[in-house]
Amino acid sequence: MTEIRFHNTLTGQTEPFVPQRSGEVGMYTCGPTVYDFAHIGNYRTFVFQDILRRFLRLRGFRLNHVMNLTDVDDRIIAKAAAASVSIRDYTQKFVQAFFDDCKTLSIEAPEHWIRATDHIDDMVVLIQKLQEKTYTYGGEGSIYYRIAKFPEYGKLSKIDVTGIQAGARVDNDRYEKESARDFALWKAPKPGEHFWETPIGPGRPGWHIECSAMAMKYLGDTLDIHTGGIDLAFPHHENEIAQSEAATGKPFARYWMHAEHLLVEGEKMSKSLGNFFTLRDLFGKGYKPSALRFALAGVPYRRQLNFTFEGLQQAASAIDRLRNFADRLKTGKFPQGSVPGMSERIKKAADDFDAGLSDDLNTAMALAATYDFVREANIAMDKGEFRQGDVAAAQEFLATFDKVFAVVADNDAEKLQALGYGNSSGAITDAEIEKLIAERQDARKRREFATSDRVRKELADRGIILEDSKDGTVRWKRK
Ligand SMILES: [Zn+2]
Repeated sequence: MTEIRFHNTLTGQTEPFVPQRSGEVGMYTCGPTVYDFAHIGNYRTFVFQDILRRFLRLRGFRLNHVMNLTDVDDRIIAKAAAASVSIRDYTQKFVQAFFDDCKTLSIEAPEHWIRATDHIDDMVVLIQKLQEKTYTYGGEGSIYYRIAKFPEYGKLSKIDVTGIQAGARVDNDRYEKESARDFALWKAPKPGEHFWETPIGPGRPGWHIECSAMAMKYLGDTLDIHTGGIDLAFPHHENEIAQSEAATGKPFARYWMHAEHLLVEGEKMSKSLGNFFTLRDLFGKGYKPSALRFALAGVPYRRQLNFTFEGLQQAASAIDRLRNFADRLKTGKFPQGSVPGMSERIKKAADDFDAGLSDDLNTAMALAATYDFVREANIAMDKGEFRQGDVAAAQEFLATFDKVFAVVADNDAEKLQALGYGNSSGAITDAEIEKLIAERQDARKRREFATSDRVRKELADRGIILEDSKDGTVRWKRK
């Protein structure tokens, strides 16, 4: 197996990945702020960290992965106050939506999914530690971090903080500070808004202290990997480092991995441009969860991802080819024995797949290795040059592929139904129905009955009933 190498934002280098404890990886991911539905740009990062954890697990590592839910911040507190509900009540809907969305995108649940509001005590203890070490100062009931006392500040994002002027938007805090660079660890209560009564006074935590406190509580002083979107590197991750390293005197995270931005049709996603999508927007348009996952996963995480509807269609077609190949392996009738060289060819596909992912999670390379093999194997099958003895190894390769990409197993219809989509027959157009029926007829002609059954089931799930007539034509009706 190839040595695993990851790009580390902290060093700017691609380095061999060696965790602190052999066979174990402690990893932290900054989760969503649950004041709204997460959008596809957020899910690009979450799919990236899912591919990362699935690959590490495939390689035999035991994961201890923590993802937080930021369920306290200025927007949440203000919105909850405006709606006259508790923070828990206000965020619950978005927390549930996030869990549902992750499940729909086949994002594995991390070992710890934790809420900031359940860890206020841990944040207070960490702030007290920083107070003892004189990294803080107070003002009007708030507590700030004095960046001037942490000379390494900026080492992650390589940002030159000396140039930051007063009034620059470094943080969302609108409080009195000694320096524009400084950030709030603890914020004084505002009239009418929720606060916690604590040994450091009444108030609420700043966003950055949440992640430091929770990450170290579950993973110890030094994490193996910290992941997030590139927009979090400064100031959020820079602040996490300043807080944690000042408190412990130890490195906070050994590998920092950041996913690049997502564009939509070449433009920055924004509500005003009308190109802002949540998962639900796309499912409502009839796109499948597997296609969306694949479109987000297929571009290596350090490359900007230009999300397009054409790309989404291509992802769906690529999944169809993989599923058809899986069906063919399952139901095809091949001559006995095995073809000379075929087991070596399958091994090469598996090696190339592994080499791609080992190379800083190069999903494009891993996919190319898979597509090449599937194309060649399909040609071999057409020519009668694929035999029964080769089936198991090819299936094993496909299973390995799916442990990471998770798109071959077809459960799109159930997932959409669980989210409340796909029930109404209006979600599928006549043209789509005709296209699927044609696919099913083709599969039947090739005697690929698993494929034809799958298409029939998909149509049934979407409320379409087929009637095969004796003359070979197919009639359909909506339930
Ligand atoms: Zn964070």
